Amino acid sequence: MNTMKAQYFISFSSLCLLFFLQFSLAQPSTQILSPEYEDLYTRISDNPQLVVDELLANPPNQPQSELAAQYHYILSEAYLSLVYPQQALEAANKALHLLPEKQPDSLYHALLITKAQALDLKNQSQEGLPLVKQALQWAESNHNQNMIINALVAQGYLEITLGNYITALEALLRAYHMAPHSGSTNSKSAIAGSVALVYEYRREDQLAIPYFQEAVDYQRQNNNQLELSIALYGLGRANKNIGKLETGQKQLQESLAISRAIGDDQGVAYALKELAPLYIKSEDFEQASLMLTEAARLFSGSQNKFMLLDIHSTLTQLYLKMDDKPKSLHHMKLAKKYLDADSMPVQAISLAELESEVKAQQGFYQQAYEQLKSTIHKKQQLMSKRSAQKLHELRVKFESETQAKENSILAKENAEQKLQLVKEEQQNQRLMMGIFAAVSLVFLLIFAVIYNKKQQAKLYQLANFDQLTGLFNRSHIMTLLKQIHARLKTNQSIHLVMLDLDNFKQINDQFGHDAGDQVLIQLGQLCQQHITAPNLAGRFGGEEFLLVLVDSNTDQVSKKIETLRIQAQHINTTIHPECPPIHFSAGLSECRYNQVITECIKCADLAMYQAKNSGRNRTVVSSLKL
Ligand code: GH3
Ligand code: MG
Ligand code: MG
Repeated sequence: MNTMKAQYFISFSSLCLLFFLQFSLAQPSTQILSPEYEDLYTRISDNPQLVVDELLANPPNQPQSELAAQYHYILSEAYLSLVYPQQALEAANKALHLLPEKQPDSLYHALLITKAQALDLKNQSQEGLPLVKQALQWAESNHNQNMIINALVAQGYLEITLGNYITALEALLRAYHMAPHSGSTNSKSAIAGSVALVYEYRREDQLAIPYFQEAVDYQRQNNNQLELSIALYGLGRANKNIGKLETGQKQLQESLAISRAIGDDQGVAYALKELAPLYIKSEDFEQASLMLTEAARLFSGSQNKFMLLDIHSTLTQLYLKMDDKPKSLHHMKLAKKYLDADSMPVQAISLAELESEVKAQQGFYQQAYEQLKSTIHKKQQLMSKRSAQKLHELRVKFESETQAKENSILAKENAEQKLQLVKEEQQNQRLMMGIFAAVSLVFLLIFAVIYNKKQQAKLYQLANFDQLTGLFNRSHIMTLLKQIHARLKTNQSIHLVMLDLDNFKQINDQFGHDAGDQVLIQLGQLCQQHITAPNLAGRFGGEEFLLVLVDSNTDQVSKKIETLRIQAQHINTTIHPECPPIHFSAGLSECRYNQVITECIKCADLAMYQAKNSGRNRTVVSSLKL
């Protein structure tokens, strides 16, 4: 079991790199390449070997030009795609050498990323990291979204190789979230595969599956055969790891078929290597052996020592099971050839365990026992180191989860508080609206009352007063007169004066109706000045006025009318320079407590006509005895 895990471990970083190479090739090269190379670049993902052949057959005309730098850039990318890291590195260096270092542009920085990938493949990831970071910084300050995403993805893979999974996942997830949803080749769905690989690397297959599925769907939709085969490979392997063997096998087989169809030897080798253990499990050793042998042949072409170690270890196990001593020894030796004990401690232990099994099979029991003993010791040391690391990792995870839980509780409380505040605010608003409505209603009522009172006052005014002179109108002065007369005690009397303007028609005719109105207004004002309460003055007709005088004898009344007459004469000065003095004739009658009012008014009226007839501009006291 441990051997299997170790094998898984060995193969993984190579797989990640392979996947990333395909990913990076899918990126658009706009603004970097001239049109003639643009086409060649896009064809790398279809058939990198063909692109290499074409480039090698047509070297650049001017070997020192910028165009030559583009040539080497594409060559480097194609070599990377073929997993020839040394050639890729050389081509990238040549290209960088041709570009001015003082004014590095986007091609220069794209090359830094390519070079870093080549270094990563050569197991020199530490050297690659600063190059990627330089490119990332440049891309960020130049707002080059595509390159930011490319650099982040590249950084993710370098960090994986260096064992910094958390940083790797951070970079990849940042790229994933920055990327557009769809449409472009560096969309979320395209990066999903890379994120999935890190989760898988972290043994979080369950988390990896949805991302792999997203990548598979995307690549299938875009008919990117190579990328589809890689994503299917990842998905199949994740399913296999979580125990969904049938689903996993189907996906791996599809990946294998696609890789064969497009001539992707590396893809074929990976799929075979992954499928073989399933055949071992079902005891189809023959098929498993064929598959692993083919995979070993293909991997030796690319000198992929991780994979070769893995495959020869599996073959050793296979022949142990088949009890084929010479073959198990042979593959054991081959596996050891590819082991670098310093940089692969886990693999070294697994291989040592396997070796002790082979020795036991060969009959060297003592050697086998001693080897197993020392292996167990080394393993314990490694395990305790790893479990300390694991413990640390778990603690970090636990703390971050606790923090997340606390945060979510706080967030929930916050949300509840907010909801409460909103509710209170709504209640307040409703209350305010209620108060506002009530206040409005009160104001409305007050307004209505005031308005009503004003209207009533207006109506009262209209009903009882003459609008031109402001004096009581005929009906009202009659009402008041009746009230006063009714209150008269025995032997008490009042005086009535009927007053009519002399030749008023002439004033209207000569100076206009408005002038006539002015005369009436001013006479009204004079009456109000001289005939004060409890006495009454009212307009009785057109230019006729009725005065009611209380508590005065006839002489006093006559004097009052005389004063009024003299004053009225001067009204003319305010009317027109040519207007003659204003005169009126008046008739005065006494109205005793027991006399009929209308009769008394008639007497006053007759006296007024007497005044007219006897020359106007005078007052006549009625001599009629009722
Ligand atoms: P007499 O001295 O005989 O009373 O002569 P008179 O012209 O005053 O009397 P008459 O009855 O012939 O004419 C009254 C005039 O008063 C006629 C009418 O046009 C005028 N008059 C009545 N009411 C108004 C009014 O409200 N405004 C104006 N400008 N004139 C009025
Ligand atoms: Mg008249
Ligand atoms: Mg008149």
